[in-house]
Amino acid sequence: MTTLRGKSAIITGSTSGIGLGIARQLAAQGASILLNGFGDAAAIDDLKRELAETYAVPVEYHPADMTQPDQIAAMVQAAIGHFGAVDILVNNAGIQHVASVETFPRERWDAVIAINLSSAFHATQAVLPGMRQRNWGRIINIASAHGLVASANKSAYVAAKHGVVGLTKVVALETATTGITCNAICPGWVLTPLVQKQIDAIAVRDAIPEAAARSALLGEKQPSGEFVTPEQLGEVAVFLCSAAANQIRGVALPVDGGWTAQ
Ligand code: NAD
Repeated sequence: MTTLRGKSAIITGSTSGIGLGIARQLAAQGASILLNGFGDAAAIDDLKRELAETYAVPVEYHPADMTQPDQIAAMVQAAIGHFGAVDILVNNAGIQHVASVETFPRERWDAVIAINLSSAFHATQAVLPGMRQRNWGRIINIASAHGLVASANKSAYVAAKHGVVGLTKVVALETATTGITCNAICPGWVLTPLVQKQIDAIAVRDAIPEAAARSALLGEKQPSGEFVTPEQLGEVAVFLCSAAANQIRGVALPVDGGWTAQ
């Protein structure tokens, strides 16, 4: 399948987890890929090479820090330099911090809002003029079940993700008469490093084995009892890039094993 041949995509936070899963599925459909995120330079080089060889697409990397608007703008310019355009933007980079409101460190609040919310605004602002010129674009924001419902001790994350859902709707309205769509995907639990840290914390807190902590985490929120996978989320992103999704605009699509049906 090469439904995205000739298109180019930036996926923020794609050196790991969900972003990498989405990058793989877009590459598998023929899209040129600009990776972003932190990590060991040699490992990122290997990843670039592996994706380029596996999917026979151009793969580039940009190290922009999503807390820095100037670096985000530079990343978009770099992608335009490499590929001539940015057709697909996946705002995925994100971090978590778990603490009660009273004990939440200010610096962590600012970092979560900057990376999980403001970066999506800055990147969207940078790609929209080119998408308008070509009258085609896909902006996919990776929100969360926490963009729709809350959990205790995640004030910054829940606020940021609800903000992403709101931003998604505004961008969808501002582009409604164009070939550009903007939508959010709202995953439930996905077993990535971001969630593994929370599983480890439960295991320590409750003095239980890691496997029991994993079941406890899923059991509390996710009726399916199974993790969502990065591959599944990548397939959903590919669908949102397809012509079938031309009139899907401003939605916040749960992919959450039933979490938000409760
Ligand atoms: P992850 O920790 O595996 O990956 C996060 C990625 O973001 C990494 O590539 C990391 O290098 C990058 N990143 C972090 N800070 C950055 C910064 N300042 N600048 C640039 N890149 C940065 O996490 P994940 O679970 O794959 O999460 C990806 C997205 O999915 C996040 O927005 C997260 O909130 C969301 N999400 C995750 C889950 C889950 O269960 N894992 C559920 C719902 C939503």
